[in-house]
Amino acid sequence: MSEKTIFKKIIDREIPASVVYEDEQCLAFHDVRPEAPTHVLVIPKKEIASLNHLTAEDEALIGHLWSVIPRLANELGLKNGYRVVVNCGPDAGQTVDHLHFHLLGGRNMTWPPG
Ligand code: 5GP
Repeated sequence: MSEKTIFKKIIDREIPASVVYEDEQCLAFHDVRPEAPTHVLVIPKKEIASLNHLTAEDEALIGHLWSVIPRLANELGLKNGYRVVVNCGPDAGQTVDHLHFHLLGGRNMTWPPG
């Protein structure tokens, strides 16, 4: 069996994280190396390696994650806007092979991203 990712270990409470939201399908916690005043990772509890690994049966799950994100942004006080980023694959800089949505806010975001 392949080794658990760091995010699976967080889901299984084998390593600590600053959790801000949890339900049956997903977990959200503060990024350990924040790139903005608010930097939260929203992840499905189901082990999906990346966007490229989604299947048709994940559509409802992904819809659920997208509905959690704006509610969470509101609860975190991101009244002036926020950015959601998904890095997919090496060119995008994905470092953890468990699908995650970066929710970033609390400062002005530049465009184009780096
Ligand atoms: P990626 O680069 O794959 O898009 O994003 C992975 C993110 O996970 C990075 O922003 C990194 O700081 C964060 N991260 C890596 N290990 C941990 C950890 O153990 N705990 C938390 N809370 N975040 C982590």
